[in-house]
Amino acid sequence: MPDYDLSQEHELVRRTVREFAEAKIAPVAEELDREHRFPYELVAELAELGLMGMPIPEEYGGAGTDTLSYAIAVEELTRIDSSVAITVAAHTSLGTMPIYLFGSEEQKRKWLPDLASGRKLAAFGLTEPGAGSDAGATRTRAELRDGGWVIDGAKIFITNAGTDISACVTITALTGDDEISNLVVPNGTAGYVISEPMRKLGWRASDTRELSFQGCRVPEENLLGPRGQGFRQFLEILDGGRISVAAMGLGLAQGAYDLAYAYAHEREQFGRKIREFQAIQFRLADMATEIDAARSMVYRAAWLKDEGRPFAKEAAMAKLYTGELSHRVANWSLQIHGGYGFMDEYAISRLYRDQKILEIGEGTNEVQRMVIARHLGL
Ligand SMILES: Cc1cc2nc3c(=O)[nH]c(=O)nc-3n(C[C@H](O)[C@H](O)[C@H](O)COP(=O)(O)OP(=O)(O)OC[C@H]3O[C@@H](n4cnc5c(N)ncnc54)[C@H](O)[C@@H]3O)c2cc1C
Repeated sequence: MPDYDLSQEHELVRRTVREFAEAKIAPVAEELDREHRFPYELVAELAELGLMGMPIPEEYGGAGTDTLSYAIAVEELTRIDSSVAITVAAHTSLGTMPIYLFGSEEQKRKWLPDLASGRKLAAFGLTEPGAGSDAGATRTRAELRDGGWVIDGAKIFITNAGTDISACVTITALTGDDEISNLVVPNGTAGYVISEPMRKLGWRASDTRELSFQGCRVPEENLLGPRGQGFRQFLEILDGGRISVAAMGLGLAQGAYDLAYAYAHEREQFGRKIREFQAIQFRLADMATEIDAARSMVYRAAWLKDEGRPFAKEAAMAKLYTGELSHRVANWSLQIHGGYGFMDEYAISRLYRDQKILEIGEGTNEVQRMVIARHLGL
């Protein structure tokens, strides 16, 4: 029989992150969101707890945990606040992972200690104004000239690229006809221009930027892995990243459920608590049931990855399911809050806004269906 109990180590991760999120993030989440303010202090505290480089081995400054621990941590952060959670998840899965997976030993020694310890942040620049779901349609070019890559092009919606502690962005670029490669561009490089923070519906305390490269020159050795492997590399990065976005969908759904459950115990109408109405009970029952199913999917995808087994289909399924589930649960939870849920003082209004991007980022719902269909041999 499969063992459905989490290990003591996994339970400890959950307890530690939950306590931190409730004690430190919850009290400031509404203010950070309202002021569109990046959570520098919280990132420093998360770094202290070893949560900024969880799956990176200790020899490079990370915590050396498995993927399941990381997924649980992201779930618990998102239960309270998505801006903080995406800052951690994008830094880990998108920013740091390409250097760990594809970097030379020298590149790893150079970048990972600062990134995995959380002293610095990293970003991954795949999306372009004309290349979103069709990420292979990248137009950014890098030409090898006199021992350096000269980069021209633009990226959009890039998380963690422009904070005061951002160290670098790994970008995909055309290094030849039909040849995509990944290059590391350090912040502060001449010709690498970062926009003001983009204004958005949700994730308002997270950092999202447009990047432009205008004759931006980086050393030849900033190429990540073999030339021409960029397409394969970013697909691998997205497969792993989907587990963390799925964990965000799960965490957001759990957070929305918890808020609805608590509110249903406080609010009285028609002379009784609204939790006594069967319509509310059935909603909560549906939410709890679907969240339970989602948790199994997310943890299984993480477990498969940890076992070294194929996980891409399961990660896409978990991401698709939790994206749509979190949509339903955030909506039902706000409904249970009535008009109060529409007010900024109530956390559910922030969770409702933060939810939508979970059906778009790291592959839209449609793209997940395309990935799943491909795995089904269609
Ligand atoms: C807040 C935020 C943070 C982000 N962070 C990052 C980041 O750190 N790094 C990064 O590289 N990117 C990042 N992104 C970009 C994100 O991954 C893209 O927005 C996403 O992949 C979709 O691309 P697009 O927005 O261009 O939409 P499009 O690809 O233009 O899609 C528009 C619509 O068409 C649909 N569609 C497209 N192709 C098909 C098809 N073949 N079949 C059916 N339907 C289709 C889509 O599903 C969607 O509904 C971020 C985005 C946001 C909003």
